Amino acid sequence: MRRVYSSASLAAAHHARNLLEAAGIGAFVKNEMLASALGELPFADCQPEVWVADPAQAESAERILREGPLRLAEDAAVWQCTCGEICEGQFTQCWRCGALRSA
Ligand SMILES: [Zn+2]
Repeated sequence: MRRVYSSASLAAAHHARNLLEAAGIGAFVKNEMLASALGELPFADCQPEVWVADPAQAESAERILREGPLRLAEDAAVWQCTCGEICEGQFTQCWRCGALRSA
């Protein structure tokens, strides 16, 4: 197993996993439960992470995800703050810098 992606946003992590599975790469999200406790746990310890089951596929997974963030911004489920943070669609305020959603 190998980690190929991590994000502060659970929606972004799920989106990344969906991209990989659409490409036929077996992937799963780790820290899904911990992510819901964001704000109470040290940030770096509870970021959602995307892992691929087969290390041989990690390279193509990373290549897919390098193109992914561009598509993430267009996904209705997430939005990108001016500070660069990807936020989940149900939030109207950036969890990191507190800015209101602008678009
Ligand atoms: Zn922000």
